[in-house]
Amino acid sequence: MKIEKLVVASHNQGKINEIKTMLAPFQVSVVSAAELNLPDVEETGTTFEENAKLKSETLARLSHCFCLADDSGLCVNCLGGRPGVYSARYAPNRDFDKGITKLLNEIRKTNSSDFSAYFACVLALTSPEGKTQTFEGRVDGKIVFERNGTLGFGYDPIFVPDGYCKTFACFSKDEKNQISHRGRAFQKLINAVFLK
Ligand code: IMP
Repeated sequence: MKIEKLVVASHNQGKINEIKTMLAPFQVSVVSAAELNLPDVEETGTTFEENAKLKSETLARLSHCFCLADDSGLCVNCLGGRPGVYSARYAPNRDFDKGITKLLNEIRKTNSSDFSAYFACVLALTSPEGKTQTFEGRVDGKIVFERNGTLGFGYDPIFVPDGYCKTFACFSKDEKNQISHRGRAFQKLINAVFLK
């Protein structure tokens, strides 16, 4: 399958830049939904897959182009997998410093000594004809109670991936992409779609 133009169903410039970097070797023109005046699709699903598909399928229908969407979040085991799909909305006014404080307080209240957690990501790619493929990525690790590092975003300062002793906020972009949930989902997509 040859994709010449790909609409990214996101208005988040950071995410779009990350996707442009990962797809740079494949001569595909990546454009954002905002550049085409396409709407921001509300995430009304209850799973990462539902939300990613909802966004890519809606925008493929409106744009008649290949569309790519992702949905991701942090799942904390002692909280039954929360905040999960609600990770962005969990942070008051999308202030992740406050979101981290809220999360650490909630974990403390459980009195659990299980601090295991994982980041999950689902990418959905929809063709102009409306056919969707999904790709999942996950990285396991644990929550630490002291913030560390200044890189990355969201919950990165309190997440230490398994096999490392530093938080995601101490990883360079390239280093994080090698093992992150989004990087892993992208690797699957690239293998299935661009390297086939
Ligand atoms: P969405 O995929 O744009 O709905 O947002 C997912 C939310 O999950 C983000 O706003 C972050 O709070 C969190 N999240 C997803 N991926 C990461 C990551 O790599 N690092 C830190 N937080 C993340």
